[in-house]
Amino acid sequence: MHITNPFANPEKIIGICGGGQLGKMLCEAASAWDWKTAVLDQSPDDPAARLAHKFVQGDFTKYEDVLNFGKQVDVLTIEIEKVNLEALIELEKMGKIVHPSPRALGIIKDKALQKQFFIDQGLPTVPQELFDTKDDVLKAIESGFLQIPFVQKLRTDGYDGRGVAIIRTEEDLNLLLDGLCLVEPLVEIEAEVAVIAARNVNGEIKTFPPVAMAFHPEANLVEYLYCPSGLGPALELEATQIAQAAIEALDICGLLAVEMFLTADGDWLINEVAPRPHNSGHHTIECCNVSQFQQHLLAICNLPLIDPQLQLPGVMINLLGEEGFEGPVKYMGVEQALRLGSVYVHLYGKKITKPFRKMGHITVANRSVSQAIRTANFLKEHIKVIS
Ligand code: ADP
Repeated sequence: MHITNPFANPEKIIGICGGGQLGKMLCEAASAWDWKTAVLDQSPDDPAARLAHKFVQGDFTKYEDVLNFGKQVDVLTIEIEKVNLEALIELEKMGKIVHPSPRALGIIKDKALQKQFFIDQGLPTVPQELFDTKDDVLKAIESGFLQIPFVQKLRTDGYDGRGVAIIRTEEDLNLLLDGLCLVEPLVEIEAEVAVIAARNVNGEIKTFPPVAMAFHPEANLVEYLYCPSGLGPALELEATQIAQAAIEALDICGLLAVEMFLTADGDWLINEVAPRPHNSGHHTIECCNVSQFQQHLLAICNLPLIDPQLQLPGVMINLLGEEGFEGPVKYMGVEQALRLGSVYVHLYGKKITKPFRKMGHITVANRSVSQAIRTANFLKEHIKVIS
């Protein structure tokens, strides 16, 4: 087993496939420790490109680009699931350290394989039926095999709610997506919770405190995130144990963010997982003794993990591109927000804003959760991402 410790070998390079905001924040965490990073993505304007020690221009979905990039780094990781899998498999064969493992990534990339994996492992999840096309879904409704309501999900490449159609009524059928998909029952959700687990090669596992997520009804993506979750210790323990079981079953080194539903009946169901830093862990930068980004770096280098502790309650809001604006970005109201204190603004540096595009986030830390929520609500009204 290769042991790579960038503290002892500062010339070691952590390669990150993907130059988005998660890559940027990984680079920020690495930089604080003087670890060297390289980023692979399409444009020198991508959020992580300017922060990495080395930016390699290329397409992380292309075999050759990932292979050539991987050869130049010591430990290879990802910040997006879409990375070319065959190249990662080849790099692993060549003896490169690749985390998450291509095997786990192959399962997770396809929502249907992911769900089948959980079912096979006895982990709680929502049952599914698979379809090849939108027409097949419609035929299944006509024949009475499938009943409304249900949720349709494209098997691959969905993100931020794109690739998910929630069908509550017949009128919603025009939302159906075309392509290989799964259909699952519409769950009566009491709470949406995420637990980020970390695991290193030695098998050490640490989990971050559970967070509760509130979703934007139209955009279908996280609008607010709260930590502590408010669920109480017994439910939090159950959610944490599911996340631990999931990271172990997938045999992942690095982070695994586990998104779960708590149903009205008090049952936990895994919705989906992500083998990388996650939107639900952004508050860890300011609110915990270790950030999800630091923990991911420690885990992929097989260094001892830190036991995450919440030091201050936090509420996180995503800064989404305002509806009706598309073009070069402007952020309005940030300077007033900063004056409120304990308001941590992260702007990702994406040049172009679009409706609902994730352009940044803000964490509000406060001893009083209700005060943090009030401040977050105020910020949602007063900070606008426009063009
Ligand atoms: P993405 O991969 O784009 O984040 P998700 O699978 O997480 O998509 O779905 C987005 C949101 O849609 C979920 O957070 C949840 O609010 C809602 N959703 C997804 N599946 C179901 C379901 N089976 N029942 C009810 N709501 C669901």
